[in-house]
Amino acid sequence: MSGRTIVVTGGTRGIGRAIVERVAADGEIAVFTGRSAESVEKAMESAPEGAVGRACDVSDPAAVKEFFKWVTGEFGTLSVLVNNAGITRDGLVLQMKPAHWDAVMNTNLKGAYLCSQAALRPMMKNEDGGRIINISSVVGVMGNPGQANYVASKAGLIGLTKSIAKEYGSRTILVNAIAPGFIETDMTAELPEEAREKVIENIPLGRLGKAEEVAALCSFLAGPDASYITGQVFHVDGGMVM
Ligand code: NAP
Repeated sequence: MSGRTIVVTGGTRGIGRAIVERVAADGEIAVFTGRSAESVEKAMESAPEGAVGRACDVSDPAAVKEFFKWVTGEFGTLSVLVNNAGITRDGLVLQMKPAHWDAVMNTNLKGAYLCSQAALRPMMKNEDGGRIINISSVVGVMGNPGQANYVASKAGLIGLTKSIAKEYGSRTILVNAIAPGFIETDMTAELPEEAREKVIENIPLGRLGKAEEVAALCSFLAGPDASYITGQVFHVDGGMVM
């Protein structure tokens, strides 16, 4: 296999899977994770050429350490990390269980921190540095009732993005965030029809987004034309937040 190594967390389904397909089509090696060996095995059945999957729970420090050790052993280094793995455990704050708060923060925010930490060292050894792309959300910018844990994790990702961008800009490690709006995936499939229509009313483009539309921006941010862009948050939301 040739091409740069691009790690995509949560690449078995949805937006992560679209990113895997896009970067593989760009000629890169897409190394993706999923929560379990089963989900990764299933995703590999229809994975594009240039894609390699491996189970890694991003909220588990030991698993993350082992995964990046395997990546650098197998591929020498990595050039791009896409922190995409994410979950929701929705509920109003008054009813929110600490376990649901922890699960969301541990996967969405701590997972991104652990993976960034593990990726930075090999990236610093690269002649041309590296890129980290964090998949945040528009709700991390605007807030959303019933999702305080998820929103806090996505707002936290924006802070993490800007801090790492400032810490490692001098090493040519560029860090940006993408804030998707409502994208058609398993995560939004559970929206009741009435809620879906309400959401669409607030989207100037009048529809939900496609995972491929997020993947296209990811491909740009991972590529040579984005060489002077760092610490930014890009919305892919059909104009929902402006
Ligand atoms: P999805 O279809 O539910 O897929 C989630 C992915 O994350 C799966 O690959 C899942 O792996 C993986 N994952 C979950 N927990 C993990 C863990 N602890 N360790 C490793 N992998 C884990 O979600 P999506 O809609 O594509 O969302 C992808 C990202 O975009 C998330 O961060 C989400 O918050 C963000 N986002 C989504 C939307 C939207 O409208 N869909 C909008 C804004 C932001 P398994 O298959 O093994 O479970």
